Amino acid sequence: MAIGVLSQNLASRIAAGEVIERPASVVKELVENSLDAGATRIRLEVTDGGAKSISVTDNGDGIPADEISLAFERFATSKIDETSDLSGIATLGFRGEALPSIASVARVEAVSRVDGSDSGARLVVDNGQRVAQEPAAGPTGTRIEVKGLFEKVPARRKFMGSAGRELTRIRQLVGTYAIVYPSVAFTFAADGKTRFATPGSGDSRAAIAAAYGARLADSMLKIDDDGSGAFGVGGLISDPGTSRGTRRYVTLAVNARWIENRRLAFAVEQGYHGFLPERRFPVAVLSIRTPLDDVDVNVHPAKLEVRLLREDLVFREIQRVIRLALGDFAPVRTLSVPGRSNMPGQGMSIPNANNPFGAVAMWPSRSITPSTQPEPSPAHVPQDQQTPPETAVEPAQTPPSQRSVLPILRVIGQARETYILAEGPDGLYLVDQHAAHERVLYEEISQRIGSQVSESQPLLMPESVELDPRQMEAIELHGQELKNAGFHAEPFGETSVILRAVPAMMANSSHTQTPGTVFGAILDEITEGRGSDSWQDRLLYTMACHASVRAGMPLTTDESRELIRRLEQAEQPHTCPHGRPTMIHLEAGALEYQFGRR
Ligand code: ADP
Ligand code: MG
Repeated sequence: MAIGVLSQNLASRIAAGEVIERPASVVKELVENSLDAGATRIRLEVTDGGAKSISVTDNGDGIPADEISLAFERFATSKIDETSDLSGIATLGFRGEALPSIASVARVEAVSRVDGSDSGARLVVDNGQRVAQEPAAGPTGTRIEVKGLFEKVPARRKFMGSAGRELTRIRQLVGTYAIVYPSVAFTFAADGKTRFATPGSGDSRAAIAAAYGARLADSMLKIDDDGSGAFGVGGLISDPGTSRGTRRYVTLAVNARWIENRRLAFAVEQGYHGFLPERRFPVAVLSIRTPLDDVDVNVHPAKLEVRLLREDLVFREIQRVIRLALGDFAPVRTLSVPGRSNMPGQGMSIPNANNPFGAVAMWPSRSITPSTQPEPSPAHVPQDQQTPPETAVEPAQTPPSQRSVLPILRVIGQARETYILAEGPDGLYLVDQHAAHERVLYEEISQRIGSQVSESQPLLMPESVELDPRQMEAIELHGQELKNAGFHAEPFGETSVILRAVPAMMANSSHTQTPGTVFGAILDEITEGRGSDSWQDRLLYTMACHASVRAGMPLTTDESRELIRRLEQAEQPHTCPHGRPTMIHLEAGALEYQFGRR
């Protein structure tokens, strides 16, 4: 075929594929246009997962009647002009591609009126052909309806998912916008039924309540961006007792533009390290504030990804604020009074997916840092899990710190050679000796590895240890980390090493296994480790686990006391490094209730 220039119609259909992949992309472009037009109310209706129709109605600025036709030309935009600096774009749109792209693959009707003008305009474009333009009445704002998406472009229709799948995507997308823009009242209806409506009150918790559910929203922890400095991160994050099975609930916005950024989402996940069980993910909605010229939005056709010049800095800041908020919160699991609305006699609920530990209620430990700490008001505890406020004894104030603090505990004894029983100001505490010790050691070792100080204890009798090729490889690859941690192993032939020293804390950890056996087991666990943890993290876990007292080991009262004392020093005393609780709280009020004292 000879070279020919494509007709504008065909060219724009091809280009549309970059911007408009599926119904959710239409929704995204239309909603962004409404937001750019300063709308405070946006109503989205879809039928059949958006394949049949999508309409977005807003109360924004509107399009002047004499410009409505231009709005559907390629590269026609009111948001930038020849003099604009592309590095400082504050609007969501700027390429002037969305409306023409959508109109080239669907039948689009636009009705709009600007404030102060008597008459608005109506324009219909059917798969690239202008079919009607006339004056029209209507409220200030814009309504755009898209029908029969891809009906005339079968190649694209093929790639669309089922109506249900597309609807899920759309819901997720509008939900995200509703949360990122809490001052805008979003209404989302599908197939004639309203699915959610946010109040537009400016309160993100209210928006999350509408889009994700009130229970979740109530339990989320607030992170405040004080607005100082050039960078900031604020928002709401789930408490450690709440998690989801997918990563989809981490929402990030940069300067009020929703973005997808896997690395920053990973920063959020990492922030929860040690707080959530494996393969569980947090819910988070974070607003990142950066200087405008630090962001390049012009890297992705759908403007979903942005380039942040100082991404590392933002990464660290996200982790920092999350650790801070979680550290303040870290709940002690409480076996509370069976709530007023609850069945009497029920001491503990059954574990399930949402509540893997099966604890009845969670209670924030003594709060000492202001602002990010939610008050333990009943509003933050689901109705059926409320604890009577009078049982929440607040122990004496301690100086502020970033740590979460344990109440002062008096050791009573050991139960089942597994739990330390202790008394606190507001009831009894059962401490899992293994989990608690793991937490203590984990923090102690990570500090040492971090500071490169290897506290190593030479073995009186160096031990020759037979290893398999995988274990040998691990030593080869991670010799330095092992050394930092306190292991000194010298190669001895192809398949063995001489173990000369072990971390001091492990020197006496096992009475039944030789240091070499423990070393081999640690290498196995680290190389088999799953998930996204770094090798160093896995080393930390495994060492902490092997060096800790096991369940079934008798402890003297002095040993128990020493363990509790060290747990009190820990930054995150309430969970073990794997996210399991270290202790359960038997509330004084619950005991009284059970014994019929009230
Ligand atoms: P862009 O958003 O990149 O400018 P679009 O093709 O999405 O390009 O829109 C073209 C123009 O149409 C916008 O620049 C804006 O002036 C106008 N427009 C589109 N949607 C709306 C709306 N809902 N309210 C007001 N103006 C709109
Ligand atoms: Mg646009």
